[in-house]
Amino acid sequence: MKVVLPDSSELELPDGANGLDAARAIGPKLAEQAVLVKVDGAPRDLRLPLADGESIRFLTTRDTDDPDALFVLRHSTAHLLAEAVMRLHPGVKIAIGPPIADGFYYDFEFQAPISEADLEAIEAEIRREITEGREWTREELSRDEAIARFEAESQPYKVELARDAEGQISLYTQGDFTDLCRGPHLQNAEPIKAVKLTSLAGAYWRGDEHNAQLTRIYGTAFYSQADLDAHLERLEQARARDHRKLGRDLDLFHLSDHSPGSPFWHPKGMVLWNGLEDMRRRENRRRGYQEVKTPLLYDIQTYITSGHYENYRENMFFVETHEGEEPLALKPMNCPGHMLLFGSELRSYRDLPIRYAESSTLHRDERGGTLHGLLRVKHITQDDAHVFVTEEQIQDEIDGMIDFATYLYDRFGVTPHAELSTRPEKRLGTDEQWDRAEEALEAALVRHGLEYVISPGEGTFYGPKIDLHMTDLLGRSWQMGTIQLDYQMPVQFGLTYMGADNREHSPVVIHRALLGSLERFLGILVEHYGGAFPFWLAPVQARVIPVGEGHRDAARALRDRFAEEGFRVDLDERDETLGKRIRDAELEKVPFVVVYGDRESEAARAWRSFELLAVRERGGEQSDVSLDALLESFRELAAEADPR
Ligand SMILES: [Zn+2]
Ligand SMILES: [Zn+2]
Repeated sequence: MKVVLPDSSELELPDGANGLDAARAIGPKLAEQAVLVKVDGAPRDLRLPLADGESIRFLTTRDTDDPDALFVLRHSTAHLLAEAVMRLHPGVKIAIGPPIADGFYYDFEFQAPISEADLEAIEAEIRREITEGREWTREELSRDEAIARFEAESQPYKVELARDAEGQISLYTQGDFTDLCRGPHLQNAEPIKAVKLTSLAGAYWRGDEHNAQLTRIYGTAFYSQADLDAHLERLEQARARDHRKLGRDLDLFHLSDHSPGSPFWHPKGMVLWNGLEDMRRRENRRRGYQEVKTPLLYDIQTYITSGHYENYRENMFFVETHEGEEPLALKPMNCPGHMLLFGSELRSYRDLPIRYAESSTLHRDERGGTLHGLLRVKHITQDDAHVFVTEEQIQDEIDGMIDFATYLYDRFGVTPHAELSTRPEKRLGTDEQWDRAEEALEAALVRHGLEYVISPGEGTFYGPKIDLHMTDLLGRSWQMGTIQLDYQMPVQFGLTYMGADNREHSPVVIHRALLGSLERFLGILVEHYGGAFPFWLAPVQARVIPVGEGHRDAARALRDRFAEEGFRVDLDERDETLGKRIRDAELEKVPFVVVYGDRESEAARAWRSFELLAVRERGGEQSDVSLDALLESFRELAAEADPR
């Protein structure tokens, strides 16, 4: 057979030759340095056979910036990580470990929680593996063989993955570690010149919060130490924007061991919070949602009915009451309350859709090791709603929700990436129902031009869903909003409505949170803006600085004028130099600073009004503006909160 090389020449190879054979035929140096072969543009493991007529191109250890070459390096390092963790933490269960933008991760279920301090030892173990030398070998097995193998190793996540796989399953082995994996992988660990484990985070198995909480170890690897150093320098810059750091520096919120995972919002942070709340309320009203308020505590029976007791119990807080009285539990989600509310009255098809919105306080007992600033908390607030619809209404309703989500994210100039999860093997409902539901979700994504990926089989057993994800500054992906179709929970609660045919039908419920957790969304926003919030959202929109003592009265009068107009303006009368006060305002990222001194007060005396103000806009130069002109531009900027 013949394959085509990048210069269009042909290379004659024996039938069944693989990528490595082709590299050897070209030269020993290439064979040694090859990390991956691209076949008709798609990456392929060097160990896999080539076919007649295919165009091939090799990536080598010299392609240090090539994303595919980095992917294979990092994926292989993820396997070294799993090997190291299994050696250092016997009994650990391993889940998945893919390469991602900027690095890789691997998800584990540890028997005892680990902390960032444990990463150093794991990293040292990976280095030891590299020094000792590792070669990857690839083998294929049948599904049943793979299941038996991972069952024998007590690796339930691998068993589940093998169960869901189709066709032959490939395994990769290095040292004494074997992973179920599609590859591709490096030939050996030699090209891995620099490794760094960067952080720990919590992650749900298969990204579903109803599943077990795993520990995700993030890391990265490069073909040279210099590349890693440059990368770490970039991370350092990103850290300056870390929402936990800015939260302290800008006096927005803090976290305390007295209530783990539950932010204390300071007055300035509360302005941000209310900015989101105002937007949520306003848009819900415009879009036909009704605000409701349901209890925080329910009896156990409610959670048995909703399925939370069965599937989510480990993450719930139970509350003892008086002796002889039933215990209660704090709600982790709003659905049970909204089901009971719907069921409290007789409903007709004319009432539907019913859209209950509530941004109530929820409590989820996330494990300590997985808490992460505002991004993973125990005290969580969602811009939640449950919409009860007939099957015919699904399409329009989903459409409206995507429109709503797009509107919200546009306000902040951020673009979420959507993931459409379709029917899993184990599911309730008929195939026609699933067809319609999946079509409705996909059609809405297409119509709004939202970029999305499909995750086949990743829907919940009760319906398909759309998740909206965002990436933080360190490249970690966080789930934000979710839109989930559910045929099941209304049935469990015995909910019905009277149809036009005078018969009772079950409504379909759509669970939806668009920003998702307000805590998490604010955390992401702080990093997105690096604390320099747009005028309409900024906790302090402008600051008036009187130059000397004699200017204080006028400065106060000025501040009061702004306040009358509804703007958030403060005064810096401290006995500090003007330069220091201006610098502090810049550090606090206040959008406007108004400096008031002799020149301004003379002008005010001459015109009997504030005709001349020295105004510094954030990141810009100082300019002279009249109060009226300044107020006018404030009004315009404030209107960006609601641009319709
Ligand atoms: Zn793998
Ligand atoms: Zn819900």
